[in-house]
Amino acid sequence: MKLLEDRIRKEGIVLPHNVLKVDSFLNHQVDPQLMFEVGKEFAKRFADKQITKILTVESSGIAPAVMTGLAMQVPVIFARKHKSLTLTDNLYTADVYSYTKQTTNKISIAKRFIEPNDSVLIIDDFLANGQAVQGLLTIADDANIKVQGIGIVIEKTFQKGRTLITKRNIQLEALAQISSLENGEVQFLN
Ligand code: 5GP
Repeated sequence: MKLLEDRIRKEGIVLPHNVLKVDSFLNHQVDPQLMFEVGKEFAKRFADKQITKILTVESSGIAPAVMTGLAMQVPVIFARKHKSLTLTDNLYTADVYSYTKQTTNKISIAKRFIEPNDSVLIIDDFLANGQAVQGLLTIADDANIKVQGIGIVIEKTFQKGRTLITKRNIQLEALAQISSLENGEVQFLN
């Protein structure tokens, strides 16, 4: 998606350990107009799927997920992050190792928001090693609901997230694909 790539080129800052900072439009300050375009693009790419809900993880997945929900006219559920959880009776939970924070969080979704025939689209801001998406897939499996697709705003193709997901045979769409952040420079795939 050219609009997104242009913004990454203009405003992205490469940090150590292969982290791209895009806090001027996605991870801290949010550009609603750009996110709306992101939402419409996901809606277009998954138009042939019967989606009843969108799943994401707080906090940076929420903006693109809500805009996709708006474009697809479906509700959005964001998994909440907790350091530890003892009362998990009414929750679906999964452990997620955070690439940027280097800590493990439990993510959870209240069971009451999931219905038996739900068929969901997972949206997230970044795909690195696939741990966040894997956590949502675990929750979807536990809840016995179908995952129709995965939409990622920025994929770092040099990390192993895609390999992990494609093993599951789920449609994966990334709106910007970064093949390298070496020497502080953003290289896009193709
Ligand atoms: P994964 O679980 O795929 O290893 O990493 C995805 C999560 O880590 C995303 O939800 C995102 O919050 C964070 N993340 C991973 N790589 C980056 C990055 O390069 N920049 C930023 N801002 N967040 C990242």
